[in-house]
Amino acid sequence: MTRKILVTSALPYANGAIHLGHLVEYIQTDIWVRFQKMRGHQCWYVCADDTHGTPIMLRAEKEGITPEALIGRVHDEHRRDFAGFHVGFDNYYTTHSPETQACANEIYARLQAAGLIETRIIEQYYDPLKQMFLPDRFIKGECPKCGAHDQYGDNCESCGAAYTANELKNPYSAVSGARPELRQSEHFFFRLSDPRCQSFLRRWTQAEGRLQHEAANKLQEWLGNADENLLTDWDISRDAPYFGFEIPGAPGKYFYVWLDAPIGYMGAFRNLCAKEGLDFDEYWQPQSGAELYHFIGKDILYFHALFWPAELEHAGYRTPTKVFAHGFLTVDGAKMSKSRGTFITAASYLAQGLDPEWLRYYYAAKLAGSMEDIDLNLDDFIARVNSDLVGKFVNIASRSAGFIARNFAGRLCTCDESLPAIQAIRDRRAAIADHYEAREFSKAIREIMALTDLANQYVDSVKPWELARHPGRESELQAACSNALNLFRLFVILLKPVLPALGAKAEAFLNVAPLVWDDGATVLAAGHAINVYHHMLTRVDKKQVDALLAANRESLEATPQAAPQKHAEHQEKAAAIASAQAAVATAAGPHISIEDFMRVDLRIARISEATRVEGADKLVRLLLDIGSLGTRQVFAGIKAAYDPAALVGRLTVMVANLAPRKMKFGMSEGMILAAADSDGQTPGIFLLSPDAGAQPGMRVK
Ligand SMILES: [Zn+2]
Repeated sequence: MTRKILVTSALPYANGAIHLGHLVEYIQTDIWVRFQKMRGHQCWYVCADDTHGTPIMLRAEKEGITPEALIGRVHDEHRRDFAGFHVGFDNYYTTHSPETQACANEIYARLQAAGLIETRIIEQYYDPLKQMFLPDRFIKGECPKCGAHDQYGDNCESCGAAYTANELKNPYSAVSGARPELRQSEHFFFRLSDPRCQSFLRRWTQAEGRLQHEAANKLQEWLGNADENLLTDWDISRDAPYFGFEIPGAPGKYFYVWLDAPIGYMGAFRNLCAKEGLDFDEYWQPQSGAELYHFIGKDILYFHALFWPAELEHAGYRTPTKVFAHGFLTVDGAKMSKSRGTFITAASYLAQGLDPEWLRYYYAAKLAGSMEDIDLNLDDFIARVNSDLVGKFVNIASRSAGFIARNFAGRLCTCDESLPAIQAIRDRRAAIADHYEAREFSKAIREIMALTDLANQYVDSVKPWELARHPGRESELQAACSNALNLFRLFVILLKPVLPALGAKAEAFLNVAPLVWDDGATVLAAGHAINVYHHMLTRVDKKQVDALLAANRESLEATPQAAPQKHAEHQEKAAAIASAQAAVATAAGPHISIEDFMRVDLRIARISEATRVEGADKLVRLLLDIGSLGTRQVFAGIKAAYDPAALVGRLTVMVANLAPRKMKFGMSEGMILAAADSDGQTPGIFLLSPDAGAQPGMRVK
């Protein structure tokens, strides 16, 4: 039966960089969603930037731009970071959207009609210079316990004491420096303490399977005994000036985060519905047969398991099927630390050239369905990726592919489905699927890696490399390699939720359509032709990890002195990227390694055709013959210097492994080499030519 599933991850705040701690959640969710899609279910994954609030308003003001411009820029950065780690949202939206506003207004109106909204006068610090009420994080002063100066309004970084802003001694506004005054203001509250909410939540939170056991226990603690009323009402409003949605019928009052951020899940989905022609109500009406799952960090459990379901229930919507809370990330056993360089941003990881699938794999190997923290142990990370992914998984294909290509024109023969390794995979597929479903990814990975051991034992026992040396044993060689490549394909299926990019490369190599889970029940038919094997995954080098830490450590030195929390994150991110880039530039410096150079595949090419390009002033279209590697079409900007007709037949040098680029005129599949004077002292373009004797296709090194 096809399930209809809607999945969310928590909304990142639109004022800070995505870091490896955030990625635990997005990678966990993405793996689960990809698994559901591979199973053939209709599964939608939505998320959005959480865009409202005082920190965003103030930061935009400081930068001299509108809040809309700021959140637009951060949105682009977040999307880029998530895409870099292959997090495949079906919609990554924003809470600053008409859809979210419409949902927020509607929910508010229904809660009000149900008698669950009330107003109350509260006292709050006010900045008389800036003329605004101050959130706790924007009030500083002396710690009431230890007297440390410059402490925030909620806790002391010196002695660790927690307190309220009103207890700070000699408070001052972190925005203007003015001494704040306590002022009264009318706020709106959601009455979570109402008996209707209490009794609903007692039932809801204890429903079997709704929450993890540890979460259900925590909720039990928060709810107390049936005769207790421990829940407090939630403040859902803020006063102008504020960046957010104004509350209908209440000029100058704005919805605070609790009444627009999670509603952003609905807004993002409503926006997706319009694009995909889906029925919003089918997923959100009270009797919906669709499933709704929220992946969250354990720090926002209170909110997602109490406030949110109570709000939905009493506004006439369905409530979440399950809430999945995860723990925090530690690096080398400790909290992420800026001074140790372990506060690693997603952007710096990618800028340093580390493969995102290394991290996806490592997180998968550590993640369980519980709320326990997970540790990124950097030495273990290197060892595990290299031994599991490169040594055990990719190795199965790399040891067999060449023989099939060279000796059998890429064709496989019948796979022996009675092989113990294939039988074992078939026996364990259902259990592995259950592990994925239960978010017990570490168990799935452990099983899969045990199976790769069986596959490698098989390859070691048949030794294709020895069979290849003995004429007359061709059919044994073809059988051994066909079996190995079929085993490889079965592992691709099992690992694809974790390694989508590697999966796509493997599918291209195996010459198969995108693999789905049920493909694991079949093998490739005899006669199936595979494509040329290209290197699929490199090993992690410790130097890369060291450089990553150095880049993130340096960003600390480049960061201006501490600014209020969320405020500071963006500057740090910018600095991290800048220093990551600087580190790359310095490391590359005047020298590159021979390995770096050898990555450029330079070949002798014969220009077999050269023609003008209609509509292009500078371009010549070249057809290049590179011997056994075939022919390539290249567009070269040499029209000013060369008559196309005079080029035909001559030899030159091309970069043969440059990623193909789609141009207005067609695909450009490489680049030819030419000299030019960058200062323009000697005008002209000078094509390279080899000495006599060089043949098309020869490697230049
Ligand atoms: Zn203190």
